[in-house]
This record gives sequence, C-alpha cells and structure tokens, in this order.
Amino acid sequence: MRLLKDGLFIILIIGTIQIASADSAEAQRYGYWQQEVEYTMEVDFDVDSHRFEGDQLLEYTNHSPDTLDRVFYHLYFNAFQPGSMMDVRSRTIEDPDQRVRDRIYHLDEDEIGYQKVHSLTQNGESVTWKIRDTVMEVELAEPILPGETVHFEMEFEAQVPVQIRRTGRHNAEGVEYSMAQWYPKMAEYDFMGWHAHPYIGREFHGVFGTFDVTIHIDRDYVVAATGYLQNPEEVGYGYETEEMTVQRPEGDKLTWHFRTDLQHDFMWAADPDYTHVTAQVPDGPKLRFFYQTDPVAENAPDESQEELLENWERLPEYTIAAFEYMNEHFGEYPYDEYVVIQGGDGGMEYIMGTLITGNRTLRSLVGVTVHELVHAWYQGVLAFNESYYHWMDEGFTSYASARIMNQLFEGGEGDPFSGSYNNYFQIVAMGIEEPMVQHADHFERNIAYSVASYVKGMIFLNQLGYITGRDALDRGLKRFYYEWKFKHPTGADFIRTMERESGMQLYWYYEYWVKTTRTINYGIDRVDARENNTDVKIARHGQIPMPIDLVVELDDGSLHHFYIPLLIMFGEKEHENPEIPRTKLEPWPWVNPDYTLTLPWGIESIRRIEIDPSMRMADIDRSHNVWINEEY
Ligand SMILES: [Zn+2]
Repeated sequence: MRLLKDGLFIILIIGTIQIASADSAEAQRYGYWQQEVEYTMEVDFDVDSHRFEGDQLLEYTNHSPDTLDRVFYHLYFNAFQPGSMMDVRSRTIEDPDQRVRDRIYHLDEDEIGYQKVHSLTQNGESVTWKIRDTVMEVELAEPILPGETVHFEMEFEAQVPVQIRRTGRHNAEGVEYSMAQWYPKMAEYDFMGWHAHPYIGREFHGVFGTFDVTIHIDRDYVVAATGYLQNPEEVGYGYETEEMTVQRPEGDKLTWHFRTDLQHDFMWAADPDYTHVTAQVPDGPKLRFFYQTDPVAENAPDESQEELLENWERLPEYTIAAFEYMNEHFGEYPYDEYVVIQGGDGGMEYIMGTLITGNRTLRSLVGVTVHELVHAWYQGVLAFNESYYHWMDEGFTSYASARIMNQLFEGGEGDPFSGSYNNYFQIVAMGIEEPMVQHADHFERNIAYSVASYVKGMIFLNQLGYITGRDALDRGLKRFYYEWKFKHPTGADFIRTMERESGMQLYWYYEYWVKTTRTINYGIDRVDARENNTDVKIARHGQIPMPIDLVVELDDGSLHHFYIPLLIMFGEKEHENPEIPRTKLEPWPWVNPDYTLTLPWGIESIRRIEIDPSMRMADIDRSHNVWINEEY
C-alpha cells in the first residue's frame, strides 16, 4: 500500500514537471501553462459607410495538455443589435447602465454594429462555424494537439456601431472612431476550460501574444493605438509633432502600421481633429496624448473651453508622476509607450493605453487617467480573468489609484480609503450585497457588482495590510507582479504569494471576505479592575474572525499596542509602528466568541482603549470599539 502510494506520487510529479518545463518555468503555480496568439491583421476602412473589410491571420499555439477539437471567437460588435443578449440584459436589469438603457433596442440598420465572417481556414483547410450572438463556435478541420501551432486565416467585414458602450463611432464629445473589441478575437482557454462568454457589456479576457495591425483609412484622420507605429515618416503630420513637415504620400488613404507584443488586446481610435502631445517618464515609457482642441463642455459645464484645454495641457505632468509612483511601489511598467486617447464613454483600459472622455475638471481628468493607467498593471500585465476576478482587476486598481491620487492632490495626508469603507457599510446596511466570487455578468444588480469589484476589492487589499502589516503587503504586491507578469494569476495565486511574503497562513481570509457576504464586528465588552491590573474582554459579534490590534492610552499620554494574532494564521505581522511598544499575546482560536487579556496597569491609570485605530479592519459597527475611562 505504502509502496503503491509513493509510486503514484512519483509519477504525478514527473508528469507535472514535463508540462511546466514545456512553457512557463518561472510562474509560481506548478505546471502553469497558457495559450499563445500571433495576430496579423489588415483593415481597409471606409469612413463614409463606417464599415471595414479585414484580413486576419492568426497563429494559435496550444500550450495546454488538452487536444482541442473546436475553438471560439468573440464577435463583440454583434452585441450592438436589437434583441442581443446585451440589449435584453440592459432592458431587464433593475439598475441599467445609463449609457446603455434601451439604446441598443432603438438602433437602425445603419447604426448597429456587426462582425461578419466571410471565410475561415485552418492550415488552408475550410472549417465550419456557427455564430450565436457575440460568440462564434468553430468546428476544426483537424484537432489541435498539445504543443501544436495552427494558422487560421479569416476574411471578415464589420460595421462600427453608434457609440453606446466602450466602442463605436461619434461619441458624445465628437470623436469619430473609438475602436475597441473591433476584430474577431480568439477566446481564452485555460485550466478552467473555454471562456467564451457572450458579451453583455462587461468584462474581457484575452490570450497573450503579438499584434501586427495595418489600417488603411482616409488621409484626413489621425490614428492613435495601443501599439508602436512602424511608419511614422509615412503618415507625417499629427503623429510626431517634430515631424510635421514630412510630406505625406498622395492618394485618398493613408496606411498606418502598428506592432506590439506581450499584449492580449489591441485598441485604436481615429479622428481628424486629434492633436498629439508626447511626454517622457524618467526611466519609463514615452507617453502620448491624443485629444481634440475644440472641446464640448458637456460633462464639465462649469469649465470654459480654455479651462478644458488647459486641463489636457496639465495632464502629462500628473501622468508622469503617476507612472513614477507605480514603478516605485508596484513594479516597473514593461512597455516603451503608453497612450491616453480622448474617446469612448468614460474610461476604459487597454494595457498600453486608455480611451477616456476628456471634457472634465482637472481632478476628474487626472483621476480617470490614473485609474486606467494603473490597470496596465492590474488587468494588463497581470491579466486576471476579469469575469471571475473583477474584484482584483478593479479592486487592486482602485487601491493603487487611491494612493496615487492622495499623493498627487493631498500630499499623502489623510485616509484615501475611508470613503470606500463607508460605501461598503452602506450596502451591508441595505442588505443587497452579493459575494465577490461571482462571475461579473451574473450579479443581480449593477450596484452590487460595483461594490463587490471596486469597493470590496480595494478593502480586500487595505484590510490584508492590517492582517500582514503594511510593509509585507507592499512587498507582496511587488513580488506578485514580478512572479506573474504576462500571465493570468487567480485570487488563490495572489494569496499564495502573500503567504510566502508574510510567513502567515491567509486562505481563511480569502474564503470569508471573497466567497461570502459575512461581516466583521468586534467590540470591547467589559473593562474590569483586578488589583493592580485591568482585565479587558473583547467579543466577536460578527462571523469573520480577525486578528486584533488593541491600543491602550495611559494617563501619561503614552500608547501601548497589544496584538492578538489569530491561531489559524500560524504567524504574526511585523511590528508596524516602532514608536509604540507592542506586546504580542496568545493567539485567539477563531471558535472562541471572546478573549480576555490582562493589562499590567490599574484601571485608574488607563485613559482610553481602542480596537484598530488604523480603521483598516472593516468593522461594520465601531460604536463599541472604543472604551473611555469615565473618571477622566
Ligand atoms: Zn477600472
């Protein structure tokens, strides 16, 4: 029996090593693999009909241990048709996105979006496919074996929808084309299987690889994109300001050729009125800004045209500062360029760039830009599956951007997270909170999705810093970035990195905070004099157990920190605040509803006792977290 067990064990280990060495040796999940794409696309664009013809060559490598007999493509533009899943969802959800509502339902034939596939071959052989809503299912001519690379060649045609959500023509600020999710895009396949989710207006997930994109478009248009322009001298003015004198070739159309690698998407935008400004981040990327010089003051009615333009002119200095902060605290941005493009309908991230609406106050313009550029780390380089890990994507981004905005506008003073804690407490009180662990598309309400992803995701990190200590959190976030860059880590992968960094067991926290809507609630129950000592009884009123920081203030004004770790952590946080002496107490077994500690002072010399003065623990009722000696 024993022999058999050991034998099996050895076979399993050998099997795993082979898979791991075939692909990614440095990833921290043993046996990790991911698929790979190489897109070469050529697009002939007609600005009169808002349609384009496209050729797509896709080299697809199956690094999985599985044989694939079918593949799936996303055809996102098909969502912008009356009766699409996105349309029905928007018309039936209780709190629809105000940008969408019933607008898709009322689109005319020449206003809808579509992607039509005219032909598709696999290694030269025709394949059959079925398109339903935004997903195309392809029956392969030959199965794709593990380790095999196949060539898909496709001819497609598309009509750019009127701008409703993220992508489209003629946005509210008059940008002609915001081209996101504009090409047939291979769905991701990973250890969980296919992720061919019909698009209902929310998350994206893509395969890492190379994009080579050639766009032929009317010569009056300036094209901005999340890639490196290969032929700046050919397109001349509008791109490099210093090259404005370059002669553009004759003809109706210009050809823009972009290339990039280590990406999982490619976005571009085009407008005749873009102005182009560049800035350099020291030891970082070159920044490009594309915006219109004749802003409509719709979103910022109090700002004059001059002020709106001035905001854009000041944006580069703030963007540089944000990149420097990110590089220092969260890991280095790995690409040579980043582009901020006026377009879209709010702010949306695309790894090497963003589409944002531009007519905003300075703080709002900077705020959206900072949020979207932080996504280059959280969603771009660390390419979370947004559908399941929306709370990492938006939560980690919100966490880092709150710190940056606090630095840029408040000089680092104050608590940048307190507003989000209040939002969380409100939704708990309303009783409409939903677990974070859900697929993003399937939340009952948009508001519950927003709180789960942006707010609880941000608190997840800040509160983790309470558990592990602030420095361990910072080190862990950086380590996570370098361990997992250009890959698709999960929530469990992040927790493993944090466990390695902190030396603590942390999965319990992930289970409670992410998978349930249970809450935290501690209180100081009793404070009793006992000879020259004082007994303090702390009670756990909520269901989520947490370690306790208790800070005691004596009558001489001195502060003393008593730290009660949880037994299930099998570890303790570093002493965060060396000016305050810390006493580590016996760990609290989580089943115990209360914990009594003895302070080495008589009650008369104690002025005040408080649970977690840092306010990082999301205690839903702080009314009994402070005890004040009434004698004072
Ligand atoms: Zn975001």
